[in-house]
Amino acid sequence: MIPLKYRIPKQGRPNKSVSDCEECDFSALHNLVEYIIGFFEYNGMDFVVWECPECGSKWYFHSRSNAWLRWYEDYHENDYY
Ligand SMILES: [Zn+2]
Repeated sequence: MIPLKYRIPKQGRPNKSVSDCEECDFSALHNLVEYIIGFFEYNGMDFVVWECPECGSKWYFHSRSNAWLRWYEDYHENDYY
């Protein structure tokens, strides 16, 4: 389950590569967590949404575990203090 505070409406387009923007040359391969803007559930599956910092395109991919949620939470940990 995705915690309420991380949920956003379904948006963006599916991205097969997960971390490479398909509209420009940007690749978030090594720091994708920095660009995640939220998570949504669809058809009983969890999806991660990220936004390309270069062109603003939004992408989503299927997350099969809670790993992305944990990394996202760790990355933003300092926001809560
Ligand atoms: Zn882009």
